[in-house]
Amino acid sequence: MDLGIRGRKAIVCAGSKGLGRGCAMALAQAGVDIVLNARGADTLAATANEIMAATGVTVTPVAADITTPEGRAAVLGEAGEVDILVTNAGGPPPGNWRDWSRDDFIAALDANMLAPIAMMQAVLPAMIEQRWGRVVNITSQSVRAPIAQLGLSNSARSGLTGFVAGTSRQVAEYGVNINNLLPGLHATDRAVSLDTAAAKAKGISVEEAKAQREASIPVRRYGTPEEFGATCAFMCSVHAGFMVGQNVMLDGGLNNISI
Ligand code: NAP
Repeated sequence: MDLGIRGRKAIVCAGSKGLGRGCAMALAQAGVDIVLNARGADTLAATANEIMAATGVTVTPVAADITTPEGRAAVLGEAGEVDILVTNAGGPPPGNWRDWSRDDFIAALDANMLAPIAMMQAVLPAMIEQRWGRVVNITSQSVRAPIAQLGLSNSARSGLTGFVAGTSRQVAEYGVNINNLLPGLHATDRAVSLDTAAAKAKGISVEEAKAQREASIPVRRYGTPEEFGATCAFMCSVHAGFMVGQNVMLDGGLNNISI
């Protein structure tokens, strides 16, 4: 399928590894030039080079912390006006409700709610002006099926989801579509850290914890960044013009939610 976005320009936040990288690669395969962000300059440069070599598009790395105003200014300054925005950042650590301080909540809100909102506020005016734009926010299955030990994530991402629900309907008439893509369990570094936390909590090995988590998924495996990226690219395509304010769950059937 031709996604109809060849020659467009995208910002992909937090995209040197994992799901963000999968989104950047899939958009690049569709012919989209990428401004690619992450904090660690070396991995980011390596990923940018790999994507350029594989696809022939231009990938411009911007090493910056997307959760800070300075980091966002660096990314936006390099990118200028863009057609597509994929927001992302690292997820908050797991824990227990007793232990989370105000500072922990502020950090989670900054990373997983206020940073993507600030990025949207920055790029939406130009998208509205040109009567075309796509935004995909990488959130989590925890938005629709909250996970007890991920209370910081549940809280912050629910706030972002509320913002998107309203804002997506305010910009849809201008050809600008905002949706959220909700990962279930995917084979990335984040999954390894959650496997490790589960192993510690249960007193079992990391391999056992991973096997247990994979067995809980109807497809019996973790998702891949490639599958995730392909879904993101479709949501950024010309074919997604009637998709507004949706929370698209990509979880291998893990969460048995009928509506
Ligand atoms: P990952 O493999 O750990 O990759 C995270 C990427 O984000 C890296 O490129 C990292 O590079 C970058 N990054 C992290 N913090 C950043 C920041 N403040 N500013 C800029 N870049 C930053 O994680 P992932 O599995 O792809 O997860 C992506 C998001 O999906 C996370 O929010 C995660 O909680 C959520 N999620 C993942 C899963 C899963 O199963 N994988 C499930 C549900 C939700 P640097 O460290 O160099 O900055």
